Amino acid sequence: MLISDILRNKGSHVTMVDPDATLESLVTLLAEQRIGAAVVSHDGATLDGIISERDVVRALAEFGVAALSRTVHEVCTENVTVAAPSDRLEDLAAVMTEGRFRHVPIVVDGQVQGIVSIGDVVKGRMSELEAETEALTGYINSGG
Ligand code: AMP
Repeated sequence: MLISDILRNKGSHVTMVDPDATLESLVTLLAEQRIGAAVVSHDGATLDGIISERDVVRALAEFGVAALSRTVHEVCTENVTVAAPSDRLEDLAAVMTEGRFRHVPIVVDGQVQGIVSIGDVVKGRMSELEAETEALTGYINSGG
């Protein structure tokens, strides 16, 4: 399965946040959208970074409640690992495991075209395995 197959199912919507937004507005956004991370972008298309609930927790541990007044820019990760629609889901799963992050933006020509979370990876891998099991069962039952 390719990343493009995942995006075809889930769509290309990516929640973005301005680098100058406060962590307070970010947590509202994450809660409202029921997501764990947002792509940081100054223009709604270019990838400037990524910020997840983990970054918020780290900032809270360091600065206490005052962290909520900090900007996304101060707290986000700027060195972002990205993938392309033509990449294989299996490879992306390995990248997430090795990098210890659960979100990967999908970028084409410098523009964010989607985001894949660990939940999407698990869902995709499960349907791959189910299809494989069905094919093997069919093969065995047909006397193959
Ligand atoms: P997550 O597991 O996605 O909540 O992120 C854990 C940590 O990795 C946080 O510090 C994120 O900012 C960072 N992070 C998330 N996704 C990526 C990515 N694709 N590339 C680099 N860092 C990331």
